[in-house]
Amino acid sequence: MDVVRAQTAGFCMGVVSALQKIDRLLAGGAQQGPIVTLGPIIHNPQVLEKYARKGVEIVETPEEIPPGAMVVVRAHGIPKSTWEELARRRIDAIDATCPKIRKAQRLIAMQARQGRMLLLFGEEGHPEVIGLLSYAESGACLFESLEKLEEFPLRADTRYCLAAQTTQDRTIFDAMAHSLAAREGCDLTILQTICDATRRRQEEAVRIAREVDFMIVAGGKTSGNTRRLVQVVAAQRTPVVHVETAGDLPHERLRWHARIGLIAGASTPRETIDEIERRLHSLGNPLDAET
Ligand code: SF4
Repeated sequence: MDVVRAQTAGFCMGVVSALQKIDRLLAGGAQQGPIVTLGPIIHNPQVLEKYARKGVEIVETPEEIPPGAMVVVRAHGIPKSTWEELARRRIDAIDATCPKIRKAQRLIAMQARQGRMLLLFGEEGHPEVIGLLSYAESGACLFESLEKLEEFPLRADTRYCLAAQTTQDRTIFDAMAHSLAAREGCDLTILQTICDATRRRQEEAVRIAREVDFMIVAGGKTSGNTRRLVQVVAAQRTPVVHVETAGDLPHERLRWHARIGLIAGASTPRETIDEIERRLHSLGNPLDAET
């Protein structure tokens, strides 16, 4: 079996930087209090289990933080009101928000100060999206598709800005920007908030999907950027499965394919991707299976 592994597969800069912050605290030793993260630090169950075994706990709100704990803010960021609550409680949290997401929050806040309403392309309920919306103090509307945005009635007396969750599909975002620009009298600013790591990963996913018979996308089931890779591949009409670990591989389906692509989300550890690749190679050649 020929396996085409994506060069972009594995941790992005934002994930590496967030995990380093926890690793530094763990290396600090027993003189410190418990280490907690405000929300899961990233969306990958294997990574979260590894840190849980080292004693790192996850809390969802500032109220749940135990006294004396060292607090790390998740890589997806938190809403403005949560930062305010931390300050009110005099909790000095370590900010592991990805710099790209911090930048998106700042850009949205700046546009809101100028009175622009946010039109955000993102996944409802995703923690990054909840955080981004909290900075849109001149109002916001969330869209999960181009069709929904096109149904939205723009007001002549309102100025808008268009932005996206950092891991969204750039092709759809560009179509949204074109669609709004074509509407008469729309006063619009476009914020380029989709991160480069996402763009490169999606471009490579498309390239590999066109070369292979079947695709594997590795990553957490709750990881937005991993799920987006599945959508990007499916749009190429290449059969695809989303797996978290090598144990999820659909062996029977795979053994009939000669060339399989392997890509992974930004929060998927290298060891997981290596193990999946080893398993794929171990399935052998489909022609051997026929004889
Ligand atoms: S995918 Fe991009 S925005 Fe998300 S954590 Fe990684 S670098 Fe940051």
